[in-house]
Amino acid sequence: MGEQGSTESTEAAQPHKSVKGPQGARSESRLALVRRARRINRELAEVYPYAHPELDFENSFQLLVATVLSAQTTDLRVNQTTPALFAAYPTPEDMAAADPEALEQLIRPTGFFRAKAKSLLGLSAALRDRFGGEVPGRLEDLVTLPGVGRKTANVVLGNAFGVPGLTVDTHFGRLVRRWKWTAQEDPEKVEAEIAALFPKSEWTMLSHRIIFHGRRVCHARKPACGACPIAPLCPAYGEGETDPDKAKKLLKYEMGGQPGQRLRPPADYPGRPAAPLGAAE
Ligand code: SF4
Repeated sequence: MGEQGSTESTEAAQPHKSVKGPQGARSESRLALVRRARRINRELAEVYPYAHPELDFENSFQLLVATVLSAQTTDLRVNQTTPALFAAYPTPEDMAAADPEALEQLIRPTGFFRAKAKSLLGLSAALRDRFGGEVPGRLEDLVTLPGVGRKTANVVLGNAFGVPGLTVDTHFGRLVRRWKWTAQEDPEKVEAEIAALFPKSEWTMLSHRIIFHGRRVCHARKPACGACPIAPLCPAYGEGETDPDKAKKLLKYEMGGQPGQRLRPPADYPGRPAAPLGAAE
């Protein structure tokens, strides 16, 4: 992502030549699809070598709670909310014994706070009563916790336990369908089809890279195709803005010069950390 890479960016904004949309994509062989998918993954790894979970956390319990809170809101809003929450309830035992109204007030900024408080109380009590106060490291156990589905379980496994997992969130689903890696809509089917394209060892980082790209470049309504480094490999090139200058203005977070989502990003993150809730910009 060199600043003065004008040749590079012009080249990057060319449409993909052999996969031409729905009909053309049908003619792509399985082998060609696997190769193209893996090439996109490699390109994204170069663009986002620092891809990481965008929720602040220090242990598996914090990651589990933050992931539950992240439903229907931004990771930034969760990160601005969790410092006070974890200071008040540092362990599952503490959170299970919380006064429901006090808990609701602390997580209120993340929206749907009554339902989320119920999940947090339920999952904390389950961790205390069934798992000795520890977050379990197996998918089949994690999905038995209140408010925890496969997506949340995979986030926790991949990032707190080092167990490879694909995180099929809204960005992931949108991008892999745009890239014609799958036509499935159901997250579990998407997960299975994408898992078959990559070695297991790639799953967690692939998820981060795709989600990074979806948040920064390949947006739902107006993807920044003209500033997209994987345009030559993308059958959906042209769904968004193709003019390089206009496309550049659509880039978000560190690419658009804005603070990222985390208040405490990893040391290699090239952008700026986000500010706490209520802080002046
Ligand atoms: S921004 Fe999205 S749709 Fe546009 S070329 Fe890039 S990956 Fe494809």
